[in-house]
Amino acid sequence: MKCVFEKGTLGDVTMLKNRNFVLWSAFAAIISMGVFWNAVGEELSKENSDNNQSPKKSQTDKDKKVDDKSKDEKPKKDATTESKSSSSARKFNPLSYDEERVIIHKGTERPFTGEYTDNKEPGTYVCRRCNAPLYHSKDKFESHCGWPSFDDEIKDAVKRVPDLDGERIEIICKNCGGHLGHVFHGEFLTKKNTRHCVNSLSMKFYAEGKTLPAVVK
Ligand SMILES: [Zn+2]
Repeated sequence: MKCVFEKGTLGDVTMLKNRNFVLWSAFAAIISMGVFWNAVGEELSKENSDNNQSPKKSQTDKDKKVDDKSKDEKPKKDATTESKSSSSARKFNPLSYDEERVIIHKGTERPFTGEYTDNKEPGTYVCRRCNAPLYHSKDKFESHCGWPSFDDEIKDAVKRVPDLDGERIEIICKNCGGHLGHVFHGEFLTKKNTRHCVNSLSMKFYAEGKTLPAVVK
């Protein structure tokens, strides 16, 4: 620097240039730091929003499920249906709007409104979507809960999965993954101490002696 000073005007110009250079360098460094921290900040906020998504989603799912009137809800892909990659290739029975709301979107029909709640005829209940036999009439009992109730299922017909509410056990058709209802234990309503609480809309009843439809596999 001293050397530059002694060169007089030329030195001053050089010094000025040097000073400008230093200032610009500092400025550039500050800008770079700003860009860097901005990038870090964006990454962090992205991470946070990712983390928040799941709980928010499950909360939404829960709300939708509780609300029986949520008829406008868009079809939500549930894990059980989605996991069956072959589902879309299979030709299931066509479903009405309400049946789809219950079977595909895990809705619940209003209590005491289902066509099979009080049905006492002997026969078999099959899945409304894929025709898989689910329950026998001999296992149906009067629970007064407002939905058809069974204390046993046909062997290997029903799959139990944790409900999105984190409390109940959801039951689905093992063949097609369609939603049936929930299963409860420990209510001491029957000797088997089990209550399959099933939506009428999830099933189709075939009276004894009638030929059961072919299962869509
Ligand atoms: Zn089914």
